[in-house]
Amino acid sequence: MDCIFCRIIKGEIPSTKVYEDETVYAFKDINPMAPVHVLIIPKVHIASINEVTAENSAVIAHIYEIAAKLAKELGISESGYRVVSNCGADAGQTVFHLHFHLLGGTKLKVEMC
Ligand code: AMP
Ligand code: ZN
Repeated sequence: MDCIFCRIIKGEIPSTKVYEDETVYAFKDINPMAPVHVLIIPKVHIASINEVTAENSAVIAHIYEIAAKLAKELGISESGYRVVSNCGADAGQTVFHLHFHLLGGTKLKVEMC
């Protein structure tokens, strides 16, 4: 399986790392949609939310812990931010390794659909 985010985790493709631990990697989005735009991903390959199960869901809670920590460190925890995961074609998912966009640093548009 050739997955761009698995290759980023392995260091085969360069990225601007923001955070890393045993189970999670976070890096700057290459095409930022806001002043702060970080992608937080599990190190284990999970294709999308569709693949989240009782066996692998602990990392999702951990990702939200890291989102809160990074939001604080990046100075957006008080001004506000959004955490988004697109799943499948209708949501516009383009990379099929589960990822959470952490967006902030400006007044974000409220567009739910
Ligand atoms: P999504 O459309 O939700 O699947 O989001 C995929 C995101 O990955 C997009 O915001 C892209 O800009 C971002 N992306 C794709 N390739 C890279 C890369 N090599 N480094 C950083 N971000 C990337
Ligand atoms: Zn992957």
